[in-house]
Amino acid sequence: MRIIPYGRQHITEEDIAAVVEVLRGDFLTQGPAIARFEEEFAKIVGAKFAVAVANGTGALHIAALALGVKPGTRVLTTPITFSASSNCIRYCGGEVEFVDIDPRTRCIDVNLVEKKLRGSPKGTYQGIVPVDFAGQPVDLERLKKLADEFGLWILEDACHALGGEFQDTKGVWQKTGNCAYADAAIFSFHPVKHITTGEGGLITTNSEALYKTLCTLRTHGITKNPAELNENHGGWYYEMQILGYNYRLTDFQAALGSSQLKRLAEGNKRREAIVARYKWAFSDLPITLPQPDPSLRHGWHLYVIETDRRKELYDFLRANNVMPQVHYVPVNSMPYYRELGFKPEDTPHAKRYYERCLSLPLYPSMTDQDVEVVIELIRDFYNG
Ligand SMILES: *Cc1c(COP(=O)(O)O)cnc(C)c1O
Repeated sequence: MRIIPYGRQHITEEDIAAVVEVLRGDFLTQGPAIARFEEEFAKIVGAKFAVAVANGTGALHIAALALGVKPGTRVLTTPITFSASSNCIRYCGGEVEFVDIDPRTRCIDVNLVEKKLRGSPKGTYQGIVPVDFAGQPVDLERLKKLADEFGLWILEDACHALGGEFQDTKGVWQKTGNCAYADAAIFSFHPVKHITTGEGGLITTNSEALYKTLCTLRTHGITKNPAELNENHGGWYYEMQILGYNYRLTDFQAALGSSQLKRLAEGNKRREAIVARYKWAFSDLPITLPQPDPSLRHGWHLYVIETDRRKELYDFLRANNVMPQVHYVPVNSMPYYRELGFKPEDTPHAKRYYERCLSLPLYPSMTDQDVEVVIELIRDFYNG
């Protein structure tokens, strides 16, 4: 019997042809496909600059470095996210603090962020890593106001919300990752995300200075640009000016990304259609459904329900070849973070959410029949 996962990639013959074309060409890495992908991506999300990297975690790491995270830097983030959102701060020697979620949006609670900032001496915190959880754009406009007042930068973890949008108080639609209210935003191209390059990630920013630093950090901290060199011994000469990494994406991955990007809008429409079907089919069941704000366009990376019978439902679906998932085990409950003194009890909304959450299958190549299989199983589970 066919297995229905919670998410999966969608690869077409065009995608395969785009990759093969690069494989037959001159550049497997550091070639022209990277810049092309970056340009297309920046245009789609409405940001000035884009830097493609090896994965979303690397994107977070060098973005945190470029924003100046170092030992002593204190950064706020949410416990309901993939651990990379806070790990990136730890990579740079910085300190993280977890702010509880708003149980409705499941994103970081902006009221609690405000309370924390107002209740601490100015200068206590240097940055914030908000996450557009499940695809719901976080209230960046409000966060940005607070960030400006308290001198924080914003690094938006937008991995869940490619294609999302929110309307700001001026009525302008702001696309996720356009950095209108963030210093930088990051994306992942892991196979379960909106578009994939196998492994891959990307940073968007409107700051030219950040962009330049990110480009250097991506490739060992090395530059060959004559305008940036301290000395110049000839055409071969390069300098390693800062401590960087090899976080490059390959050209064949970038070609896959460009090809996938063409179907982003179509994929997100399909996600919306599945969500609408779920919403209608589950409306009379004793489960909490996602409650997206009508004033925004949700990216619908995940469809997360909440139920008191989570473990039972998880086991029941798996026994029937449907593979739901739990997003996430709170980061502040991980042994590594417990060792640092954190505990899930610090963030009671996140703790309670974790005890009840379950992500149902949602991906563009999911057929109507797959959707009906999931619906029927869940209805049977509750109605006997
Ligand atoms: C996927 C994801 C990441 C990490 O991306 P990778 O490409 O797997 O390194 C970071 N944050 C969030 C919220 C994610 O969903």
